[in-house]
Amino acid sequence: MNKINVVILGATGTVGQRFIQLLDHHPYFEIAAVAASEKSAGKKYKDAVAWKLDTPIPRSIQDMVIQNCKPAMDARIAFSGLDSSVAGEIEMAFAKNGYAVVSNSKNYRMEPDVPLIYPEVNADHLALIDVQKKNRGFRNGFIVTNSNCSIMSFLPVIHVLDKNFGVEKMTVVTMQAVSGAGYPGVASLDILGNIVPYIGGEEEEKIRTEPLKILGKFENERIRYSGIQISPSVNRVPVMDGHLASVSVKLKKTTDIEEMKTFLKNFRGVPQELKLPHAPQRPIIVHDAIDRPQPRLDIHLDKGMAVSVGRIRPCEVLDYKFTCLVHNTIRGAAGAAILNAELLYAKKML
Ligand code: NAP
Repeated sequence: MNKINVVILGATGTVGQRFIQLLDHHPYFEIAAVAASEKSAGKKYKDAVAWKLDTPIPRSIQDMVIQNCKPAMDARIAFSGLDSSVAGEIEMAFAKNGYAVVSNSKNYRMEPDVPLIYPEVNADHLALIDVQKKNRGFRNGFIVTNSNCSIMSFLPVIHVLDKNFGVEKMTVVTMQAVSGAGYPGVASLDILGNIVPYIGGEEEEKIRTEPLKILGKFENERIRYSGIQISPSVNRVPVMDGHLASVSVKLKKTTDIEEMKTFLKNFRGVPQELKLPHAPQRPIIVHDAIDRPQPRLDIHLDKGMAVSVGRIRPCEVLDYKFTCLVHNTIRGAAGAAILNAELLYAKKML
């Protein structure tokens, strides 16, 4: 099978490194180019990157020369792990020049004609691509995004509860790993032995709004947002990988814990039906142990692509409360974008 050439934008960063690790020997995609800032361009990848993953840099990438982020590469897909300060302009230039941009950055997530996709939940929102092409005069290019990483810890769980019982409102308190801040990220003197109850870049605003678009309905060429009220509080914690979230929900219909667990365990989506390479077999893993999920023990379940939920119990203020967990650089970033691209491939949209 002829593989599709892809370029990684922001290839030297935390998310860029995950792209390179996860795309090694991918059945559909082949990394044809890597690109980053002026400071890295012209260098061999192995000389420019501060590689932080626990597998070696793939041989095929080590000596690849890093390019500038200019849309002049032989590739169909541009996976973006670009810093948001530059992602806006660069991603738009690639889309205008005919690339399918599959992005992790926040810049276009909330644009009305840009799909914000969690494939198990809203694969049908890919229909926005045609609207985007029409609005912006793109011929072959377009932009597809995935959400903020901490949202992905609870999003499929809220989707299942909303679909079956209706979610009226929720609170969420996140405990987010340092890898979520990129590299070099948070200074060790700020985070070691500490918790920082603030994350910049409008983290709480993203958690309040992005789920409403993903959980919304595609109607008349636009998304009608979900009306769930979300009250987030975010914290940076001294954990390497894995965003944990404590969630409380108010439901519209009555249920019980066993019924909720059954729906969550049985949940499957389009990626599972299509057997996409990065699709977890079970998108949501329900833990019965009283002290799970935990980042160190549970982030790698199903290749880091499944999210965990546990400690489901009654809430004294709302109806129920529970703890969710996601691997922030796999399911929360590069793995999510790769799954989006696999969905585009399977739907013949590339
Ligand atoms: P990072 O480690 O700081 O990496 C940023 C990347 O952007 C590097 O490759 C850097 O290249 C490149 N870059 C910076 N300035 C540039 C410029 N002027 N021109 C071209 N490239 C430039 O950040 P990250 O954590 O990987 O995050 C990347 C994006 O993904 C961000 O938008 C972030 O919000 C989003 N995201 C991150 C996570 C996570 O868990 N980390 C999760 C979801 C989404 P150089 O090395 O050459 O400077």
